Amino acid sequence: MRIDVITTFPEMFPPVLGSSILKRAQERRLVEIRVHDLRDHTADRHRTTDDAPFGGGGGMVMKPEPFFKAVEAIRGEGPAQGEEIILLCPQGELFRQDLARELSTLQRLILLCGHYEGVDERVREHLATRVVSIGDYVLTGGELPAMVVIDAVVRLLPGALGAEHGAASDSFSDNLLEYPQYTRPAEFRGRPVPEVLLSGDHGRIRRWRRKESLRRTRRLRPDLLAAADLSDEDRELLEEIEQEEQAAG
Ligand code: SAM
Repeated sequence: MRIDVITTFPEMFPPVLGSSILKRAQERRLVEIRVHDLRDHTADRHRTTDDAPFGGGGGMVMKPEPFFKAVEAIRGEGPAQGEEIILLCPQGELFRQDLARELSTLQRLILLCGHYEGVDERVREHLATRVVSIGDYVLTGGELPAMVVIDAVVRLLPGALGAEHGAASDSFSDNLLEYPQYTRPAEFRGRPVPEVLLSGDHGRIRRWRRKESLRRTRRLRPDLLAAADLSDEDRELLEEIEQEEQAAG
C-alpha cells in the first residue's frame, strides 16, 4: 500500500511515522508513506498556500491550486486502481474502525491536511473522493487527523502487528469492545487478577473474555451492541449478565 500526505507542516510526521508499528510496517515494506510539502506545489516566490476568504471575514483559507497540483504530481508517478483522496475535515464522515478496514484494502491513499479556516470548497467538491473527520471537535490542522488515519489503517495491514498479536480481538473489530486485560503481578495492592485467567483452562478463559467483552459493550456502548452480529452463545452470555446484574440489585 502507498500513502501520500499533503501538508504545510511535514516536520510533524517523522516522529510518528518513525516509531513503533508504523516504523516496522514500512521496514517490512507493507506500506510506503510519503509526506509532501504543499509549498512545493506553489508558483509564487513566497510559496503561498492560503489567502483571505471571498466575502470577507477573519482568518485565511487554503488555496485550491497547490492541492490539485500536488495530487496531480503524485498521480503522475503512476496510476493506482484502488485509490481514495481524503480531505481531513471536521465536517466529514466520522472515522470509524470499519472505514479504517475499508481503507486498508486500497492500493493508494492520499491525505489532504487543511489549516486555518479550512480549505477552498473546490478541493472538497472536485478533488477529494471522501471527506473524513476524526471526531466532533476542531483541531488546528489536518496533520494529527492524518496520523490517526494512517495508524489505524496500517495496523490492519496483514503482517503489520506480527505473529504475537492480531487486530481481530481489538475493540470494534466485531462491534464489541475488547475484554479487560491483566498482566503480572497476579495480585497488586490487594487487588487480584480474575481467577479464571490463572486457571490455564483455555475454554473457560475464552468464554470469560467473550462475556466480559459483551458486558463492557453493553454498559459503555449499547449503540455498538445493538449493531453487533451476535451468536447463540453471545445471547446466552448476555442473559447470564442480565441475571447477574438483577441479582446484584
Ligand atoms: N473552519 C473549519 C470548520 O469550522 O469546519 C475548521 C478548520 S480547522 C481549524 C483547520 C483544519 O484542521 C481543517 O481544514 C482540517 O483539515 C483539520 N481538522 C480540524 N479538526 C478536524 C477533525 N475533527 N477531523 C479532521 N480534520 C480536522
